[in-house]
Amino acid sequence: MKYISTRGSAPDLTFEQVLLAGLARDGGLYVPSEFPKFTAEEISSMRRMSYNEIAVKVIYPFVKDSLSLEEITNLVELAYSSFRHEEKVPLKKIGDNEWLLELFHGPTLAFKDVALQLLGHLFNHVLSKNNKKITIVGATSGDTGSAAIDCVKGRDCAEIFMLHPKGRVSDVQRRQMTTIMSKNVHNIAIEGDFDDCQAMVKDLFNDLEFRDEITLSAVNSINWARVMAQIVYYFTSATALGAPEKMVSYSVPTGNFGDIYAGYAAQQMGLPLSQLIAATNVNDIISRALNTGEYKKGAVSPTISPSMDIQVSSNFERLLFNIYDGDTDAVCQLMEDLKDGGLFKIAPQPLKKAQSIFDAVQVTEEETLATIKRIYKETSELADPHTAVGICAADKMRRDKNIPMVTLATAHAAKFPDPVKQQTGQHPELPDHMADLFEREEKYDILPHDLDILKKYIRDHLS
Ligand SMILES: *Cc1c(COP(=O)(O)O)cnc(C)c1O
Repeated sequence: MKYISTRGSAPDLTFEQVLLAGLARDGGLYVPSEFPKFTAEEISSMRRMSYNEIAVKVIYPFVKDSLSLEEITNLVELAYSSFRHEEKVPLKKIGDNEWLLELFHGPTLAFKDVALQLLGHLFNHVLSKNNKKITIVGATSGDTGSAAIDCVKGRDCAEIFMLHPKGRVSDVQRRQMTTIMSKNVHNIAIEGDFDDCQAMVKDLFNDLEFRDEITLSAVNSINWARVMAQIVYYFTSATALGAPEKMVSYSVPTGNFGDIYAGYAAQQMGLPLSQLIAATNVNDIISRALNTGEYKKGAVSPTISPSMDIQVSSNFERLLFNIYDGDTDAVCQLMEDLKDGGLFKIAPQPLKKAQSIFDAVQVTEEETLATIKRIYKETSELADPHTAVGICAADKMRRDKNIPMVTLATAHAAKFPDPVKQQTGQHPELPDHMADLFEREEKYDILPHDLDILKKYIRDHLS
């Protein structure tokens, strides 16, 4: 399996190289040259397997040129031993043929842990084997930051700089990052929004000299390994609900398009998915793009689901590459259009392809709040606002009640306690390992939205 850039002019890489590279040197994202395919028998056999066993089965074809079966088996075991639930990602029934897939039982209480716990062990394994060290610079709309910090804190192989938009993440989210005192962890609040943070990280990657100087790596979902790890739970949940004989649909709270792209990848690998619903909050560039074909940047509005307050969805470029049948010139042209005019238009044929599997819809703040209230009333479950966006979108877009509908529960309600308390009267409690979060000391610096200042900060703080 080799990995190729969506823009066609960066070198092909192995899995190990792609893990460390993050963004391609031509500005594109790495994608596998083809998706491995599973037969119906192979998918059926997953019903008798544990989460870790399915993870190894799904991941191994992507990594086998770089890692042995034994190595990936061990890394998967290590990664998911940090999850507090025996099933790792349990399914919970919330209605007639309607389910939640709880992805928040990892150390930092959001689905980001599923990929990042594995990524930390992959980094550690590959870097210590080669006696190398990397510098990770990431941007977070809230949940990636704590999950990424948790996966590399205290490790000798990596130094991490995490940018978050100042005042735009929840207190729990910020404290999960800024109370980690390991020497290799550096938190920076940027005076700007998430898109500013993400653009600064992309600019660092495109500064090839600086990139090489500090051996820059990525933990954002531009890193292929993250998408890869997320494919697994589509297989575990769909087979538990009757795939491959039965179809299954998903509603995915969407920001950077990484989580739902993993669902697309699962479908390409043979999993029979009916609908993939991209559920967005009012920052709805993805739902506009998938409905109208026009991908147009707007201004970011802060919402109660801040991890989806995004107007530039990086992973959408991977889908463009696929729906344009790997035509890298076409992808380059679209990205040029976006850079020059702030928008691009998807051609009718590729758009039709995308629409054959994706549905997309915007959910307002009022609808999100009402959904939190309704779900509590009907099921006694406390849904976090991101999950509520997903549940509401599932209700709006569901085509066939006979097909199981799974909403990805992307965060624990305790990460966003205020709207949950307001709608249900219940204060969602943090799990024991985090109960003292608000007593811990915080450490972070505030920087302006300025690339040169950021570069100097990174140089000065590298040990
Ligand atoms: C990151 C995040 C999302 C969005 O996921 P993408 O892969 O960026 O689309 C949704 N919900 C929560 C809680 C998140 O942390």
